[in-house]
Amino acid sequence: MTNFISTDTFIEITYLTATVLFVLSLKWLSSPATARRGVFAGELGMLLAVVGTLFHHGIVDYKWIAIALVLGTIIGVPLGNVQMTAVPQRTALSHAFGALCVTLVGTSEFYLRAPDIPPFMMAVLAMEVILGSLTFTGSLMAAGKLQEILPQRPITYKGQNFVNLGLLSAAVIVAGVLVVHPEQMRLFPVLIIIPLVFGVMLIIPIGGADMPTVISLLNSYAGLSAAAMGFVLSSKLLIIAGALDGSSGFILSVIMSKAMNRSFTNVLFGGFGQIQTSVAAAEEARPVKSATPEEAAGILASASKVVIVPGYGMAVAQAQHKVRELYDSLTKRGVDVTFGIHPVAGRMPGHMNVLLAEADIPYDKLLEMDLINGDLPQTDVALVIGANDVTNPAARTDAGSPIYGMPILDVDKARTVMVIKRSMAAGFAGIDNPLYYLDRTLMLFGDAKNFVGNIVRELSGSDGHR
Ligand code: NDP
Repeated sequence: MTNFISTDTFIEITYLTATVLFVLSLKWLSSPATARRGVFAGELGMLLAVVGTLFHHGIVDYKWIAIALVLGTIIGVPLGNVQMTAVPQRTALSHAFGALCVTLVGTSEFYLRAPDIPPFMMAVLAMEVILGSLTFTGSLMAAGKLQEILPQRPITYKGQNFVNLGLLSAAVIVAGVLVVHPEQMRLFPVLIIIPLVFGVMLIIPIGGADMPTVISLLNSYAGLSAAAMGFVLSSKLLIIAGALDGSSGFILSVIMSKAMNRSFTNVLFGGFGQIQTSVAAAEEARPVKSATPEEAAGILASASKVVIVPGYGMAVAQAQHKVRELYDSLTKRGVDVTFGIHPVAGRMPGHMNVLLAEADIPYDKLLEMDLINGDLPQTDVALVIGANDVTNPAARTDAGSPIYGMPILDVDKARTVMVIKRSMAAGFAGIDNPLYYLDRTLMLFGDAKNFVGNIVRELSGSDGHR
């Protein structure tokens, strides 16, 4: 490369720097205050990893790489510009592409090396290909369900778990045979086909509501398959990056399952999400109290402590900037305004934090569930904006409810509750919310952005008259 530094040293330095940046990226991503820096560190790390790889001795021709870069850019740029609410399915598609890539690399490595593959290497290669293939079809299925190209409801049938377990065992047996007899090269396609089918079968019984948790789990599998590929290719960078991806994806799935009070087995085999619409319909006739923007503005203006609870509806309506105006207007009047953030509000982890940060709401006003729940009994008004399931008291009080045991934001304990939503429709879990029928609850029917905008207008109108 130059007289001072060999190409190998240059590659090692870029890989080492990329590794450090990946670790720092994950660390910074864990707090809203440093998350942007985390994204930048991750991007820089990936750029360095790609640049380092382009200097690799093994590359004899850049033509195909250039074509792949152009194709990747053509696909990648629109993928980066999807709506925030479509991020889970976009993420699933990225996992699918990553997993396909891992499977293809594993396949080419097998055919380049077979039959002289030592048992350890064959075992790792088999793991790479199994995880890669099942993540590929599993992620495509997950993306299809979330995008509603495929039916969202869980599809279950008798003996389903037995069939799935059978498929997985068959793949492991084929892998075992190849470890001992790598010369049985005709078995290799079977090692890919079985997990491809398994990936589809694994996702079929999982409902749309559980999909983001499953995507996080698939993310973990994609990371593990990349780590396995790192062993096959003797790449420390891939091993470390894959392990970071695998473990962080797994930790995220655990956090999400806990926030929904579900076990992994329940998420994967529970068939959650196929219950409910009839319950919601039956409850619809019960009377509720509603209020106008003017009345809501009056109640908020006379409160001393207000907790705003955002949810998926705020994201759909893109109401975060209007919510910021409401926050400004109320704090200017001396009202103490904080935000209650549920870990699974919205459709992806950190969804509410990202939206509120985009509207420049101060981070220290966003309080996590455990903190805000202590405050809610002393709160004058809990203003729920497009949240439903994460405020449903049935999770606390109704042992028969499908979400029983899920920790919720206890907005029903506030002195007055106001709920902005368009109708009495159910949330993602498809169940009715008893919060709406309480004496102290006022329903504010309308689109979140419009309704909050109207409240802000009423507040500024009354400012003018003061
Ligand atoms: P929900 O999906 O429970 O409810 C959202 C509510 O927003 C709906 O009842 C809807 O009512 C209302 N809404 C939709 N559009 C608008 C609009 N334009 N203006 C006003 N309101 C609107 O959301 P939550 O955030 O409370 O709960 C998240 C759910 O997603 C939970 O069940 C959680 O388990 C699940 N989930 C979340 C994950 C995550 O990582 N965040 C992962 C996996 C699952 P209406 O139609 O009447 O307006």
